[in-house]
Amino acid sequence: MESSQPDYLNNPQQLLELVSTRTKKPAQEIQEMVKEKMAKFSGMLSESGAAFLVAKELGIDLNLSTSLRQTRPLNALKQGMQNVDVEARIASIFPPREFESNGRKGKLQNITLHDASGITRLTLWNEQVDKYSPALEKGTWVRIQNALVKTFKEQIQLQLNYNGTIQKLERADLIMPQTRKVNELNEGMHALLKVEVTRVHKGKFYYSSCPQCKRKVETMNEKHFCNACGQVQEPTPRLLLSLQLEDDTGNMRGVVFDEGLEALLAQKKEDLLKDFNAQGEAFWDTLKEQLIGKPFTLEGRTKKNAMSGELEFQVKGLA
Ligand SMILES: [Zn+2]
Repeated sequence: MESSQPDYLNNPQQLLELVSTRTKKPAQEIQEMVKEKMAKFSGMLSESGAAFLVAKELGIDLNLSTSLRQTRPLNALKQGMQNVDVEARIASIFPPREFESNGRKGKLQNITLHDASGITRLTLWNEQVDKYSPALEKGTWVRIQNALVKTFKEQIQLQLNYNGTIQKLERADLIMPQTRKVNELNEGMHALLKVEVTRVHKGKFYYSSCPQCKRKVETMNEKHFCNACGQVQEPTPRLLLSLQLEDDTGNMRGVVFDEGLEALLAQKKEDLLKDFNAQGEAFWDTLKEQLIGKPFTLEGRTKKNAMSGELEFQVKGLA
């Protein structure tokens, strides 16, 4: 008689029971081993992943067929899914960033993926950055296996599981991922927005930011302070441009920072700053000429403006 195999990858409890039966060890003991394993990997290992490792160490071959694997469309990803496979195209790739948390140094890199169904963020951590980053670029098609689906700032995103891999695919086709309309956007949505720029709001164009968290830095008595990080030795200028975006369903404010502006204007940040400081009014005229009345497919995220309470679209790049 043939019975269908339970979905162990997404059901760690069943997997624990299986390991317990096969090893003839009490479930309690297996549970403890799994917990220890997860602690050792400090959050990077799912419960199922840990159970697999424990089984392997106990000499048990779970022999779960890889033919059960299924590639999922990006818009089907749900918080908490484990060992997910996707096939997608890199829409944008951000430079690796170093950070420090609890006295430990780390590295992360954000990558935006899209397929025909939608768009999502992949975050690589530490050695994953060194391993995969050099081969990846905008437009590269990848197959990602054994990813975890997490929520960060109310947004679904992918991370590689401990056994996760990224494989480059020999594919160069362009796809048109689903774009959204202004009136379809909800708070926290990561989306592609096909709009026209109708206004460029003249402003300061850049602000002093904390190099750690990019928040605005306050300066008092020649000392710089970040609300989140405390005193900052050397603030970095961060570009900021505010635009009015419009399609046939409505209009909203768009906010563009460093990476977004470099993509939108096809110019380096340093050059933009230099031009801004040197050209005065002429700089704004050039910006308006480059942007107003032009259609753009913008990639970004919807956020509520803390001051106005209105939704705005934070532009991360061009699709
Ligand atoms: Zn900060």
